[in-house]
Amino acid sequence: MFVRELVLRQRIEILNALCSSGSAEHLEQVLDILLSQGELTWEDYQNIQVSGRALHCNARKLLDLVYIKGEDTCGLFFAAFKIVLPDAKGVGTSSSGCSSTLEEKEEHQSTCTETLLTQRPSLVEKLRGCIDGALEDLVTSGHFTSADCCEVQLPIHTPCQQARRLLDHVRSKGESAAKVVLQFIQHKQEPVSPLSQEKWTPPKEVLKYQKKLSSSISAQSCFLSTYGGTSHMSLDDIYTDGQLELAHNCVDVNGPLSLEDIVGAVGTVNKEADTVLVSGEAGGGKSTLLQRLHLLWARGAALQDFLLLFPFSCRRLNSEQRELSLQELLFQHCCWPDRQQEEIFQFILDHPHLILFTFDGLDELKQSFSDEHRHCCPTQRAPVHILLFNLIQGSLMKGVRKVVTSRPEAVGPLLKKHLCKEVLLKGFSPSGIDCFVRKHHSDAHVAAKVLESLRTNTALLGLCHSPVLCWIVSQCHKELLGCGEGSLQTITDVYLMILRHFFQHQSSQKNTTGLCWLQQHLQTVLHLGKLAFDGIGATCYIFSGTDLETCGVTEKDICMGFLMQSKDISTHAEGYEFLHLTMQCFFAALYIVLSENTDRSTIPKLFETQKMKEAGQSSRCFIACLPSTDQPQRPSGGETTAAETPNRQITATFVSGLLSHRHRNLWLHCCPSAVMEKRVRQVVKCLSKGMQKHFKSIPQPVEGEKKSMHAMPDFVWLIKCIYEMQEDRVAKDAMSKLEVDHLKLTYCNIGPVECTALAYVLQHLRNPVGLQLDNNSVGDVGVEQLLPCMHICNSLHLRNNNITDEGIRKLLAKTIQCENFKKIALFNNNLTDACTQHFSHLLKIKQNFVSLRLGNNNLTEKGAKQLAEGLACNHSLQYLGLWGNKIGDAGAESLATALENSKTLVWLSLVDNGVGSAGACALSNIIKNCTSLEELW
Ligand code: ADP
Repeated sequence: MFVRELVLRQRIEILNALCSSGSAEHLEQVLDILLSQGELTWEDYQNIQVSGRALHCNARKLLDLVYIKGEDTCGLFFAAFKIVLPDAKGVGTSSSGCSSTLEEKEEHQSTCTETLLTQRPSLVEKLRGCIDGALEDLVTSGHFTSADCCEVQLPIHTPCQQARRLLDHVRSKGESAAKVVLQFIQHKQEPVSPLSQEKWTPPKEVLKYQKKLSSSISAQSCFLSTYGGTSHMSLDDIYTDGQLELAHNCVDVNGPLSLEDIVGAVGTVNKEADTVLVSGEAGGGKSTLLQRLHLLWARGAALQDFLLLFPFSCRRLNSEQRELSLQELLFQHCCWPDRQQEEIFQFILDHPHLILFTFDGLDELKQSFSDEHRHCCPTQRAPVHILLFNLIQGSLMKGVRKVVTSRPEAVGPLLKKHLCKEVLLKGFSPSGIDCFVRKHHSDAHVAAKVLESLRTNTALLGLCHSPVLCWIVSQCHKELLGCGEGSLQTITDVYLMILRHFFQHQSSQKNTTGLCWLQQHLQTVLHLGKLAFDGIGATCYIFSGTDLETCGVTEKDICMGFLMQSKDISTHAEGYEFLHLTMQCFFAALYIVLSENTDRSTIPKLFETQKMKEAGQSSRCFIACLPSTDQPQRPSGGETTAAETPNRQITATFVSGLLSHRHRNLWLHCCPSAVMEKRVRQVVKCLSKGMQKHFKSIPQPVEGEKKSMHAMPDFVWLIKCIYEMQEDRVAKDAMSKLEVDHLKLTYCNIGPVECTALAYVLQHLRNPVGLQLDNNSVGDVGVEQLLPCMHICNSLHLRNNNITDEGIRKLLAKTIQCENFKKIALFNNNLTDACTQHFSHLLKIKQNFVSLRLGNNNLTEKGAKQLAEGLACNHSLQYLGLWGNKIGDAGAESLATALENSKTLVWLSLVDNGVGSAGACALSNIIKNCTSLEELW
């Protein structure tokens, strides 16, 4: 078919591909290429690229024009299209040879103006990071006025678009202006930091403002708020690095990310976006991480490419009722310039690459992210959330770097579209826990005792990967060391420990009443519980004096230390917030369990799964939990907020834990036992129903295939609730109806805590399953947590899970005794030759073991030799995968000797192992002698 005809036939697909993102970038890139090739004249370009006209119209104009121009232009259009959108579906030439190739144009043209055209794509790329410098040269040389600069730098333009507008303007100014730009690019040195790139020093007033801003940020961030009520702990003394990972695989990244990498270019997936998302669970350390970044910046110890940093808390922005301009937002919420506000703001607008914004807790904002309402004008007022969303997506102040934190559940595809990258914060590593506890206790003896008690209680150790729990455990070390070994098992146990800790330490009054500690403080629990519960329903985390009064919170209740004074610098109004969001959820759960006023439908609604909600059975759970008279004002027209589901799920997890049989003595005198029993029955029923819903959604297997279930996030949450209850009968009941051969939980954010819960529940399965946990954060501690369910596993997939030799040693010591256990996949972990002796032993003992996959680890010749010892004695193994190790010729020879007479081996992969001719010769014996072998890689 002729390409010209394809332009017609594929018109819809082409238009969709070019325009569906809403950004003009793709179309403009295609135009750049066609201009540089001389396929479009400058006049053509101006006819197509009409500013202010809808993107679709411009794209249609281009298609009309290339069609008119004929076969060759259409061919080049497709070639350009493929460069810009290589993965676009349904667009392109057939294989019938009509594809055109783009020519590399000569570097040296007769005039500089021509060079600007023929080199346009690469000039755009080179200029996008240094527009300011180029403009400055053009102004100094008298070619550009400040009005020209403003037009180029309109905040609605992306950096690439600014570069194009600059080139367009330069063209209109003639040859000598073009020469200035080309000289500027030529002189541009290797990348240097933007600050040093600018030869000037910023104006004095700006420097003064910077000083004021940094000293205010430093004062706000040098102490940790959780310690506010107890003891002052400086961030320097306690800060411990959390585990940071890129959400997307990135070949350039080796080893863990550093704090500065969050803001840097590493791992960027969308160059046009300026927003980085740091996502992590509640209590995972997101706010603390930002606080650390702020402090380091304020002291001049990091992020020095940024002259000004503006920190925002979405929680505090919730209380901003007024419409604000960007200037008001920056100055009123962060730091007020004493003089020359206008000049400073203009400086900010003119130098976006020197500015950093951080937004903590996007999930706590009352409004969910949306990019519907465009707001591009920095001086016009708008509701704060509109300003925020436009900053994030770059319609406002394009080019400013933004770091946003959120819980992962609250981040939808709409937001992801505007991210340059996503970084996952995965709590503390095992050595991080160690480090935190040692920092927390100045007495090394106490630290050692706490760590020892964690080592003997691995379920608790698993919980301590979450920094907030690590903090509680350290804080309550006396209670921890006082209680019998292993008695703290669940998240609820840990929060009950801190509840008791605060009551016993903060309360001056001695308990002479003979009442148990909870009974003694029941009124405080109910007051704070109601405040927490109502607050979550209304997405409210900062409470006014009136809110406190409405819930009966007294001065004495406040003194207990669960609330801290809120530092709302915008309104200067006094407010209170819970020490941590999870603490608010815990109090909400206490209220649901202990209050006589909670509605009958509260518990069922709390346990609704996402699916049920989507089916429209109830639109908004938490709000619906409240009695109708108490319902607070909703943020906006009927929408659920991003935080609602995660908050509800954390609260439900606590409710399950509080209603556990183990804690019932505590409630004995606080709530009538009949009421308590009823609530327990309700929770058990909800959990059972929730699980069944999941099971029912499992598709029937295709004939000949295994029945497989791919778990949804709600499934893991329900499992965690069952674990919190610690009642075997509930776990047994849940598993009695699960009939699958394979349980897939890949990319489900499974860490040690989830492993504990999974093992607790799955051990009650009736028939063996394959358990697939690839791409999570199981680690060695998680592996140890999984041991109780290994007897019911026939295969275990743990690809990409940070597992080391020590985890494998413990795992194999257990699985060697498990009759059902036949397959293991450990691709991409941290295994070395130190683990192969354990596999060798397993292969010798287990004569029904079928599949061993150890690809992409660090095994060498030594490990291969050790494996060979086991393989020589094994008569069952069918699959052996060692792809991407370093076993070399000698390793291959050992394996070949061990396997050449195998009667069972079907598949062997030694790809990418440095195996040369000698190894290949040895392997040829396997091909010769091993008749079962079907594939050798
Ligand atoms: P998130 O914002 O993810 O909910 P936070 O940053 O508020 O979590 O952390 C909760 C608590 O955990 C903090 O108040 C602090 O006590 C502790 N914490 C979190 N991260 C760290 C860290 N990197 N170093 C020391 N303590 C931390």
